[in-house]
Amino acid sequence: MPAPPSEGHDRDFASPTPPDRPMNPAELKIELLCRGLRVDGSCRIFEDSLPLSPTIAGLGSGLELILPGSKRDVWVNAPVIENFVEKSPLLLLSDQGEYKITDERSGLRYRVKAPSKPAWYDRYTPTGVPMSHIATLQGTCLTVNVGERCKFWTAEHPLNCRFCTGGLSTGVEEEQEKSVEDVIETALAAKQESGITFVQLNGGYQGARGLRKVFPYLKALKQKVGCLVGVQFNPERDESLYDEALTLGVDSFSFCFEFYNPEYFRRYLPGKAEVLGRDVFFSALEYCSRKMGKGRVAGEIIAGVEPVEDTMRAIEYIVRVGAYPLVCIFRPLTGSVMQRYPSPDPSDMVRVFRHVYDTCRMHNLPVGTAPNINVSLSLQPEDTFYLAPEGIADRTYQSFIDALKHLMRPYFSSRMRTQ
Ligand code: SF4
Repeated sequence: MPAPPSEGHDRDFASPTPPDRPMNPAELKIELLCRGLRVDGSCRIFEDSLPLSPTIAGLGSGLELILPGSKRDVWVNAPVIENFVEKSPLLLLSDQGEYKITDERSGLRYRVKAPSKPAWYDRYTPTGVPMSHIATLQGTCLTVNVGERCKFWTAEHPLNCRFCTGGLSTGVEEEQEKSVEDVIETALAAKQESGITFVQLNGGYQGARGLRKVFPYLKALKQKVGCLVGVQFNPERDESLYDEALTLGVDSFSFCFEFYNPEYFRRYLPGKAEVLGRDVFFSALEYCSRKMGKGRVAGEIIAGVEPVEDTMRAIEYIVRVGAYPLVCIFRPLTGSVMQRYPSPDPSDMVRVFRHVYDTCRMHNLPVGTAPNINVSLSLQPEDTFYLAPEGIADRTYQSFIDALKHLMRPYFSSRMRTQ
């Protein structure tokens, strides 16, 4: 097994091969996530659009952009502040009232849209908290971090995941303890004004049975807001907690085991390895997937750190147990332990996401059927349709997904009614 590269290891793809044709939105998203985006002085984008939230989900946040496409628009959170961005050949320009990304290698230009900052971001909850400290938009999803500061950050010897900066932000950009009422007010505003359909409740490690902290929010969101609710928490050994969450109406779970290779899991996720162990992630993922059915649970991983072959195996495992793979491209965040680690090579990432597509197609995984869910930090399986060959099997799979989307509309409408 190859040894993990040490932090500070440098890989140079500063002289990349220019693409010989325009990139499709998925390829452009991969390029942006790997190389970052320089922003020309002509752009007033930081004033007009969603503010940068440097610690969103503990994975870092850049500039939210929409890449228009023929199959679907693709949302991306482009890194703009990390060191590696300086070398990026991708430059954002303002051109006659439009934003365009110029690829300086080929001279090709791509029109992009910047979602504007919603009015509720500047408003306060009834208890006087800025709504943007309660929840943030990531793509078209409302993300709410709940619970206390992740215990991996507060352990006697820090056990935080080495890529994460989440523990640096709690209580700074975000309220530490959020009242249910504040979350409901914010979610209602985001639903009415931004049209969100999905709220993701995230949390760092909260101790055994920490999932219980989600329940009051989950219950209130389902009863008073009427939206799909996903939960991304560390796994529980007591699986009856997932049954309770299902009774309260949870729509999806995601489990972030990040690395499939056990050596990388131990090295870069010391808290998850020492306190939980990989098998607890797998047991919880499989339990929820069996209970909820195909395509309702996500296995979340990070690509670009462990060998690509391990990432491919992780994708196969996730799909084999009926879950969908949400693959984040590693971002060496400023302030994290891995800040000097190299950003991944885009050509490796294209291989990874082709594999996501192929694996989902081979298992007929229903992806992208819920309305208006666009994720900007990772490539959704439905983004990878742009990477598919145009064979008969591909057209059949994509038509199957289109039909399913249509058929499942009444189901999702009923899930989004207040209860
Ligand atoms: S579990 Fe890991 S990624 Fe999540 S907040 Fe804690 S340290 Fe960060």
